[in-house]
Amino acid sequence: MSPRGKLLAAIAIGIVLAGMPVAALNIWLNGMAERQGREELDLSARRHMALSDARIARTAAALDDLAARAIDSFRSGHIDVLRQTTFGTIPIKELSIVAADGRTLCTDVGNHSDHRKVISSEPLTVGSGSLLELVQLGTQPQRWVRIRRPGTNTSVGLAALIPAGLFMPQVSNTGGELKFQARVLSAGGALIAETGGTAPVDGHSDTLVTTVSSSQYGLQAIVTGAHSGLTAGQGDLRAVGTIVSGLLAIVILMMPLLMPTRERENPIDEIERALKAGEFVPYFQPIVDIRSGRLRGAEVLIRWRKPDGTVVPPASFIPLAESSGLIIEMTRVLMRRVCTEAGAVLGARPHLKVGFNLTARHFASEEIVEDVRKIFKKSKLRLTQIVLEVTERQPLENLTETRRVIAALQGLGVKVAIDDVGTGHSGLSYMLKLGVDIIKIDKMFIDSLGTDRNSNTIIETLIDLAQNMRMDVIAEGVESFEQVLHLRDLGIRAAQGFVFSPPLPCSAFLQLVETIDPLKAGAPADQPGTLLAGLAQVEYATREEPRRRDDRGAIPTDPRITESVAVDKV
Ligand code: C2E
Ligand code: CA
Ligand code: CA
Repeated sequence: MSPRGKLLAAIAIGIVLAGMPVAALNIWLNGMAERQGREELDLSARRHMALSDARIARTAAALDDLAARAIDSFRSGHIDVLRQTTFGTIPIKELSIVAADGRTLCTDVGNHSDHRKVISSEPLTVGSGSLLELVQLGTQPQRWVRIRRPGTNTSVGLAALIPAGLFMPQVSNTGGELKFQARVLSAGGALIAETGGTAPVDGHSDTLVTTVSSSQYGLQAIVTGAHSGLTAGQGDLRAVGTIVSGLLAIVILMMPLLMPTRERENPIDEIERALKAGEFVPYFQPIVDIRSGRLRGAEVLIRWRKPDGTVVPPASFIPLAESSGLIIEMTRVLMRRVCTEAGAVLGARPHLKVGFNLTARHFASEEIVEDVRKIFKKSKLRLTQIVLEVTERQPLENLTETRRVIAALQGLGVKVAIDDVGTGHSGLSYMLKLGVDIIKIDKMFIDSLGTDRNSNTIIETLIDLAQNMRMDVIAEGVESFEQVLHLRDLGIRAAQGFVFSPPLPCSAFLQLVETIDPLKAGAPADQPGTLLAGLAQVEYATREEPRRRDDRGAIPTDPRITESVAVDKV
């Protein structure tokens, strides 16, 4: 999948993942609200039941006590006891002596029986003989609960009146206002008391109902609440939950955006991706014949041109490409690109050489021989124009194999150069054994030319050796005219460096080539151009009047250096 496709897929997954915690939190909150609501209803129902049971038990106990004390008449002593009992027993508002048929014969406050209308009557408990009755007093709408106890040895009994409202708690579980609709029913189903607003319609999905039964008297407490009403109090929790899930969603959404960063953080993956995307491009640094002033060719120096336009120098990625082995593919890609982009222009000028940098790894097997053969076989760039540079900085592990690979490459017609000569540890014997065609003297020696006697001696020795072994010499990193002149005096023919030109992008280099080395109609293609010959003419003039270097360290705009000016302008 393309990186763009990957990013889009990652964003889509991120959105889905980001929605999940929000949905999960909602489900969890709803579940929790329901659980809490049910627990609250249950507790409320149990409170109703406990209160009702306590009211009846307390009353029944008071009646038992009176019966035990044989309080069963209107006598003044008995009336006093009844009054004291009423006063001392919380739920009881009136005690009376009742006939066997339920008529009130006398009350502790003197009320008459004709005030009582019995609505329902049922046994309080099986076998006790006591009754639980609902009565109305006169025209009052309120219900009263009457507990009637038959006399032990007499036809008259005792009865206690309790306001039905005392069967209902007056506050909620938490001491606040009552939220639920509650009903207390007798064992026979008579409605003793009810509280709260209108009960939600049964069966409605928003309704929660809890029923609790009393094991003592068979009463039932039914509490009903609206689901939405129960969860309404959890607004704060919801707000916190929404913020937390929102933050979580943002973090998850950010993840796909962070993914490419992580990809960038793995530099090997990033190099591999850039290779496939064609972000590695060749730059060309001209190599000049400092005797004739003609262009001899160029060294290809790789650059990483990122999509945002930044150009990364090789020091930032070549070491990693080498250690990861990607350098092999990178070199192939670079060679193919040079063929495609510069093959025609350079192929038409067979005297121009094109150098590529190889690494020690390339010489460990003959794979490079096949690569080079294949890549240049179909290209206009001829194998005889190719120079392959192997640096002296890296130790070559297997000299015999390296020698064989070099020989095979030379067999194809390419030239092999030793780069950075003088900087490695192998020394001259190394070069001799490898049998290369060209040596490139490192900038380090060029910099100390004229000032350091040792450098001069080393360069002279190298030149002697090269001549004896029929090797070419190229001076690298030449930055001033003084150096050019010095190198010429030492007998060096070829040089590259900022004094002539920095590495140039392909289009600029090709423009330069076509400017200074035009293909003349009818002229044989292998005749070098002569525009840079102007460089040779400045030789004596510069000795009298030293050249100033401009800011870029490139060739100065001396009118006598016509070709160099041309280089500089490209
Ligand atoms: P190198 O092969 O020794 O290349 C010469 C380096 O010196 C280049 O740096 C070039 O820009 C720089 N240079 C040239 N003239 C002057 C000068 O007058 N003054 C100064 N100060 N520097 C000059 P660059 O392009 O940054 O390349 C650095 C190194 O990266 C190269 O050193 C080479 O070892 C490696 N490299 C570059 N391209 C490739 C490649 O395609 N494959 C491999 N394996 N290595 C490469
Ligand atoms: Ca090189
Ligand atoms: Ca070099």
